[in-house]
Amino acid sequence: MTPDAILALYEWTIGGCFRCGQVDLFVTHVDEIVTPSGDRYELSSCGSCVLAMEEERRRYAERRGRAYEPGGLTQGEP
Ligand SMILES: [Zn+2]
Repeated sequence: MTPDAILALYEWTIGGCFRCGQVDLFVTHVDEIVTPSGDRYELSSCGSCVLAMEEERRRYAERRGRAYEPGGLTQGEP
């Protein structure tokens, strides 16, 4: 699967990336954190970080002998 095809699996909006800290670029919502006090933070990630995380998921799946399916970052999969 090409990087473009992987990125096409996500929806993009302008925002900041939690992973690399860049702001005002295309990001996709990948997760949210709720603190013990009840504050909710949305985690969004830019394209290059999404590809890096997809690569980590691919390696993780490979080690576990599982099938890797791109596009799962937003479904809370490891
Ligand atoms: Zn990033």
